[in-house]
Amino acid sequence: MKRLEDYRGIVPDEIITDLHRRASRLHDKHVVHMNSTAQGGGVAEMLFALVPLMNDVGVDAGWRVLVGSEDFFDVTKKFHHALQGDRVHLTENKKRIYIQANESFSQYNHISRHDAVIIHDPQPLPIIRFYKKRQPWVWRCHIDLSNPDAQLWEYLKGYIMRYDLMIVSTEQYLRPDLTVEQRVINPAIDPLSQKNIDLPDRTVLKYMKRHHVPLDKPLITQVSRFDKWKDPEGVLEVFKRVRERVDCRLVLAGSMATDDPEGLEVYERVRKRAGALLASGDVVLLLGANDVTINALQRISSVVLQKSLREGFGLTVSEAMWKGTPVVASAVGGIPLQVIDGETGFLVDPADFDETADRVVTLLQDADLAAAIAARGVEHVRENFLVTRLLGHYLSLLAELME
Ligand code: UDP
Repeated sequence: MKRLEDYRGIVPDEIITDLHRRASRLHDKHVVHMNSTAQGGGVAEMLFALVPLMNDVGVDAGWRVLVGSEDFFDVTKKFHHALQGDRVHLTENKKRIYIQANESFSQYNHISRHDAVIIHDPQPLPIIRFYKKRQPWVWRCHIDLSNPDAQLWEYLKGYIMRYDLMIVSTEQYLRPDLTVEQRVINPAIDPLSQKNIDLPDRTVLKYMKRHHVPLDKPLITQVSRFDKWKDPEGVLEVFKRVRERVDCRLVLAGSMATDDPEGLEVYERVRKRAGALLASGDVVLLLGANDVTINALQRISSVVLQKSLREGFGLTVSEAMWKGTPVVASAVGGIPLQVIDGETGFLVDPADFDETADRVVTLLQDADLAAAIAARGVEHVRENFLVTRLLGHYLSLLAELME
């Protein structure tokens, strides 16, 4: 069982006391979260941490996962890409698939006496249309909204306007063209989850052995869904450049989210492109590794890369920083909140493979610099991106909405 009390010692006592105080205004209030996957990706990761903690402090919180067909997830994946800047051909058929899945889910997903409803991301966004709205509804959008496809955005706006509030991950995603109130809440990681909890060295070594990750050379790692925006193929290019200067190994760890139909395709492309490097063992692909394995990998790596082309927030960045591993990451989306260039990591232009490789090499060659950056990274995450902070934001927001 997750308990807020267990976070004492990780965050200052005043924060724990303050969270209990904020929660006292919400005792026995009934809140439901809804998203579209129970595993894979940052939203599920956060809900796993947040929902039990909400219950522990006395809020009656639930989490429901939208069930959809392959067609539905094909459409919502296209919407996801288009919200992040791709174009989409918005046909009546796509709209029908989108809406019908929501309507059908609403029929066996009872919402009545809840005091607030929080809908995550675009997949379940239109479900609001199928209920008699008796309480505040919040749309929590976790993706980069700075340059959405105009036609899709106009269409989705029709649903967003039905909500009382929209939440985004960083200031730059606030939309000037919405009348609905908007807030910024930064995502967060759970320091006590299997993904992030401290691990003894022997456990780290055991898990690396189990997954055939040799430790004879420094490891560079990227942990990400196999998704074009995470640019795993670009990571290979960077690795090739690094390897010309420092002997090292690359691990690409990726999972397949159940709401992401494209993962296998991207994985196959990466596999082909890695070619001989895979055969020689210099590139290791880990598919579907469990949380402890990801934890161990982020700890043992000399450098963690996050070479995203677009990134809503990028929990993997804070995850690595929290473990004291220096990060080189693209200056996109929510990453610059986490990586302050030269202070808590290195920020790079994702199109510049040479610069990215340079930064990785610097960290591999300068142990003192790497250690100083890593130490500042841990404190930056402690202050800003732990789930206790996220819980505080939600408690305040819910109290305000229910007043
Ligand atoms: N993740 C994982 N295994 C993998 C790849 C990713 O557990 O093989 C986790 C990762 O540790 C992080 C989340 O999935 O907690 C990804 O969140 P992020 O915000 O980085 O990106 P998203 O997938 O939501 O775009």
